[in-house]
Amino acid sequence: MFVIKSRKIIISITLSLIFISSVICISAMNNSLSDKADAKVFKVVIDAGHGGIDGGVSGAISGVKESDINLSVSNKLSNYFISGGFSVTLTRSTEAGLYGSASGNLKRKDMLKRKEIIEKTKPNVVISIHMNKFSITTRRGAQVFYKANDEKGKLLANCVQESFNNMEEASRKCSALCGDYYILNCSKYPSIIAECGFLSNPQDEALLVTDEYQDKLAYTIYKGVIEYLTILESN
Ligand SMILES: [Zn+2]
Repeated sequence: MFVIKSRKIIISITLSLIFISSVICISAMNNSLSDKADAKVFKVVIDAGHGGIDGGVSGAISGVKESDINLSVSNKLSNYFISGGFSVTLTRSTEAGLYGSASGNLKRKDMLKRKEIIEKTKPNVVISIHMNKFSITTRRGAQVFYKANDEKGKLLANCVQESFNNMEEASRKCSALCGDYYILNCSKYPSIIAECGFLSNPQDEALLVTDEYQDKLAYTIYKGVIEYLTILESN
């Protein structure tokens, strides 16, 4: 009787182990498949610069806040990426800054929150949208920045800069520049800042305040990112 019982127990344990290892195998396979599926979704973080108490620079003629234009271009850019099947995370989707109701160093809290969003998203690219200002008011045009030692970021910046340079409104051809900025340096992901034009220049400002030109800027940036992806996939 004892032997029969033992055999039953051994068979039962063996079957249980086979079942458990099958479950583990299937689960591992599913995880691996979903990892592969996730890897195919290209994730973009779009960062609308400034917001809340920090309006950024302002239009010399209209007084428009940079933060408002940044948000509008970011939302339009987001729509292009979503239509293209990309996964999009916006660091801010309203006029508010990212410092909550906290007091103290709000700018620092705002920037740390942007870093937190980027790190949580683990994006393929980060695109920070800004408008420029310069003491020489004749300075015009879009300028793209990338961070030092970020080869993918540099390629992305070159592609987006080239796309800006090809706009019919482009007043001059620029090269993408290496820049030492927090939003570029705060994560390991390929990151660019797109300074879309100068609010200190009357011609640029007249364009930047219009919905039509903001949409054109968004599409131009989107095209640059698509070119970046095309080059990456061909290598
Ligand atoms: Zn700015």
